[in-house]
Amino acid sequence: MSTAYFCFHQHFSHATGDDHPEHALRITAIENALHEAGTWEQLTVCESGPAKRADILRAHSPGYVEQLDLIQPQHGRIYVDEDTPMSPGSLEAAYHSAGAAVEAVDAVLRGQFRNAFVATRPPGHHAEHKRSMGFCFFNNVAVAAMRAAETHHLQRIAILDFDAHQGNGTIDILQNDVRFLLCSTFQHPFYPYSHYEANKYNNLVNGYLQAGAGSRDFRDTILNYWAEPLRRFAPELIIVSAGFDAHREDPMAELCLEDDDYRWIAQWISNFTNARHTPWLAILEGGYDMNALGRCVNEFIGVMLEQA
Ligand SMILES: [Zn+2]
Repeated sequence: MSTAYFCFHQHFSHATGDDHPEHALRITAIENALHEAGTWEQLTVCESGPAKRADILRAHSPGYVEQLDLIQPQHGRIYVDEDTPMSPGSLEAAYHSAGAAVEAVDAVLRGQFRNAFVATRPPGHHAEHKRSMGFCFFNNVAVAAMRAAETHHLQRIAILDFDAHQGNGTIDILQNDVRFLLCSTFQHPFYPYSHYEANKYNNLVNGYLQAGAGSRDFRDTILNYWAEPLRRFAPELIIVSAGFDAHREDPMAELCLEDDDYRWIAQWISNFTNARHTPWLAILEGGYDMNALGRCVNEFIGVMLEQA
């Protein structure tokens, strides 16, 4: 068994502009860090293709998907919300982004790999059923989770989201569907200000972190809020919304995680999945400081390799 790294060069076609934080050099920074640490050569690198429209339509409305086709510019850039630029190649990248998540789900559920990391952009967890938002067009994690539920017929899929921002899109799409348990930690109050409170949904676990929260707060929140619901749920698959923007060097949030916290959370997930032989994969979300992003993904993947 080994760890797979899913990637695709078409993300370069999603041209967000030099001054936008979500740009192609994020993936370059990750891969440079993996090469420098000697991690890259231990991975099984899989170049993935685009998602099929049928995969996207499990998470998004047909009208929304058609609307994206219609508004994509022939040249230059438009903004689909105040934060989310769309260039002539954005949909090609977005279909590949979801496609990488789908291929990774299929591969770990076939038992081809012990676990998988999906180095994807545009990210996904803010994309709602009918709305682009927060740098996201298609909700890669929700598309992957629906693929696992409907094609592989899984009954219990846990989504663990440690991005600094609440994954409003994932909740919008999967709320109250008891095939999915949605656990997250995020800065609160903070973007996206959508107020998905756990007591209003029967499959949602929120771990709130105040601005300035660091390692101790993060780890205590995981142990106090996620551990028991996850154990009771007994997932057949874990999909991680792996955002790295809660790091203290990241400019997009006000949390203070350290490099070692990403090793710690990967180890915590690894221990849980080892005990139960649960397949799992991690799909990239945020992370906007190039140095911290590269280092922390390397820490995270290092644990995945140790497990494999
Ligand atoms: Zn984020």
